[in-house]
Amino acid sequence: MTDKNVLIIGGGVAGLSAALELARLGLRVDLVEKSDFPGGHAIQFACKAADKCVKCGACAAEEKLRDAVQHPNIRLLTGAQVENLSKNNGRFSASVQKKPAYIDPQKCTDCGLCFDKCPSGAILRGFSKSHSPFYSLCEEKCLYIKDKSCRVCEAVCPESALRLDKSSESYPCEPDAVIVAAGFTPFSPENKPYGYKIFKNVITNLELERMLRLESRAVRPSDNAEPKKIAFVQCVGSRDAQLGHVWCSKICCGSALRMARVIKTRQPETEITFFYMDVQTFGKDFKVFYESVQKDIRMIRAIPGDIFKTGDEGLRVTFLDPPSHETIEEIFDMVVLSIAITPCNDSKSLAELTGLDIADSGFFDIAESKSGQGIFTAGTAQGPMSIAESIASAGEAAWKTMKYLEVRSEK
Ligand SMILES: Cc1cc2nc3c(=O)[nH]c(=O)nc-3n(C[C@H](O)[C@H](O)[C@H](O)COP(=O)(O)OP(=O)(O)OC[C@H]3O[C@@H](n4cnc5c(N)ncnc54)[C@H](O)[C@@H]3O)c2cc1C
Repeated sequence: MTDKNVLIIGGGVAGLSAALELARLGLRVDLVEKSDFPGGHAIQFACKAADKCVKCGACAAEEKLRDAVQHPNIRLLTGAQVENLSKNNGRFSASVQKKPAYIDPQKCTDCGLCFDKCPSGAILRGFSKSHSPFYSLCEEKCLYIKDKSCRVCEAVCPESALRLDKSSESYPCEPDAVIVAAGFTPFSPENKPYGYKIFKNVITNLELERMLRLESRAVRPSDNAEPKKIAFVQCVGSRDAQLGHVWCSKICCGSALRMARVIKTRQPETEITFFYMDVQTFGKDFKVFYESVQKDIRMIRAIPGDIFKTGDEGLRVTFLDPPSHETIEEIFDMVVLSIAITPCNDSKSLAELTGLDIADSGFFDIAESKSGQGIFTAGTAQGPMSIAESIASAGEAAWKTMKYLEVRSEK
């Protein structure tokens, strides 16, 4: 089986898991990740253990990434995309375009000088220590790429790991099967009446995840102070018939409650209010967790109408009080919007590339399987799911791939 090669599109937890399953069985895997850092959304998440592990899955994503980057059978191409894909005599032919490798991972020692000294914020920092190099260069912000006016990063790097004159590279590959694990795109809440991107202290749950990961506590973006009152607003962009997003994103209640709990443990003075439609249960220990969470967090079964800013960057939230049916206004220091899991921005182009079908929801249609043709899907490319479910779905995709390849080699 070692002569078999599989192309995986998307290096999130699903793509990494599928790659590992196949690599451990002796197959060679080309794992193509569009962004500069592998690991997808889950690699940005914080561990949410308060007094004990709450099984949020963040460490599982870390583990998959660490194992995948070390596996000799996996070639991980970051900043890369599959440009074309065709099939002849049962074998695919693809070409992968990879953006220039400005920072040499073999030389970079993670000293951080390029990050600190770059005048335009063009050096980006990874989330995980398994990101190698730990830094990447954002071409849109780089002054050298804009008008050749700056080479500070090259000059300050003591290891000469940076080279700004690199060009993009093209990698041909001939996979025997393809797995699409391009994940999801988080809903953009700009058009909701919550002042996102207008009021500094309205953030998304994804931004709170990153904040907890990097700073281990919740802080108000406006002044870096610890907020005294936080409101979580659930179902922003999910279960919304007007948007055509009728699905429940499944993970937001669990993720938001776990984050609320961890904030309450680390910052006990902070009051937390949770606005929700109904709480989506998760895991077999949910009942016990939910009972204990309700002691610390005020739960209000209502979704706020509008949010307005007060003079001191506070946020006036209006909502219909469930018992009295009266409209109430309350001031919070920070609002966290639990944004929906929506189909990956690239799903249409990937459907054209691979011939996969797209369901009415916009996610890949798993009922219209292309298994017989050697093309499979994994993870949230199929629809909302948790990290554990994404790993399980990747295992299933790897198993189907093996079955397809065995059937083909027996013929
Ligand atoms: C705010 C938030 C909090 C969450 N919290 C939790 C939690 O606590 N616990 C939990 O279990 N789950 C949680 N989830 C769900 C979790 O994020 C997903 O289960 C997981 O990230 C799915 O992994 P994936 O690989 O399917 O997709 P993704 O994480 O989206 O990864 C897909 C990858 O594919 C890449 N890609 C996209 N298009 C292309 C292309 N054309 N070519 C190459 N690469 C491409 C992307 O750059 C990305 O790296 C949360 C989700 C959100 C939004």
